[in-house]
Amino acid sequence: MNDTGGTPWRERSVIVTGGTRGIGRGIAEQFARRGAAVLLTGRDREAAREVAGALVRSTGGRVVGAGADLRDPAAMEEVAALAERLHGHVDVLCANAGIFPEKPLREMTAADVDEVLAVNLRGSILSVRACLPAMERAGHGRVVLTSSITGPTTGYAGWSHYGASKAGQLGFLRGAALELAPLRITVNAVLPGNVRTEGLEALGEDYLRRMAAAVPLGRLGSPADVAHAVCFLASDEAAFITGQTLTVDGGQTVPESLEAFAPAAVSG
Ligand code: NAP
Repeated sequence: MNDTGGTPWRERSVIVTGGTRGIGRGIAEQFARRGAAVLLTGRDREAAREVAGALVRSTGGRVVGAGADLRDPAAMEEVAALAERLHGHVDVLCANAGIFPEKPLREMTAADVDEVLAVNLRGSILSVRACLPAMERAGHGRVVLTSSITGPTTGYAGWSHYGASKAGQLGFLRGAALELAPLRITVNAVLPGNVRTEGLEALGEDYLRRMAAAVPLGRLGSPADVAHAVCFLASDEAAFITGQTLTVDGGQTVPESLEAFAPAAVSG
């Protein structure tokens, strides 16, 4: 027997935070395509419902949307209760919502730090805690955090608070993985590189061009690239994997210098 009870996707209930656009929307779409019942969230309830409706039309799957601001500690408890009410149980939590405002350290205020940590780190932790009772009732669970290469693996000037929040997620994940293993709940993370989303596009064409040039596979990632990795970590096949990270970055973090891949790519 595997640790999700061997149930097919169509009997799984999945929560995706930050599912209204970008990577989260891509994750919600891939689970819906596999037949799972999906509850996606964002701060704006109407936007969440609209995106859910669009995904139902494009995938033929089961998707509902709910409003939940991760800065509110009670919000995810309501979301977990809603998922249980609608779908009977909660099997998978994708703690994906996050923000990445640029702010040089010299200009960073306490409020800037609090905001990034409240959404990215505290929000992830409280999302997992909120889903625990439902996962305990289900007798199993899968948690997949969306971290980043920035912080755990690399640094980026202007995003030091963001990097701290993303590295902090991994500290949390290791402790949580051990604590929840006896409950047959696995906790893993994906570490995306640069993925073309609305949030990334807001950083400007110049940023997108420079980032694509830094990827050995020659392009930015897509939300689906990350979503497939998330679906794997939530699958029966990943039943024996916990406390781990899966980097999805087109090889961006592999070269030790620009020369390590650029000349071959140019002359090749
Ligand atoms: P995005 O396009 O900006 O989407 C962010 C999502 O998070 C939206 O659904 C947004 O919905 C939600 N959100 C933001 N603040 C929230 C809050 N306070 N409470 C609840 N939901 C909130 O971002 P993305 O690029 O898809 O990034 C998604 C995740 O991947 C983040 O954790 C990010 O750090 C990580 N990541 C992204 C990249 C990348 O290149 N794009 C790379 C590495 C890691 P509302 O605005 O409606 O609330």
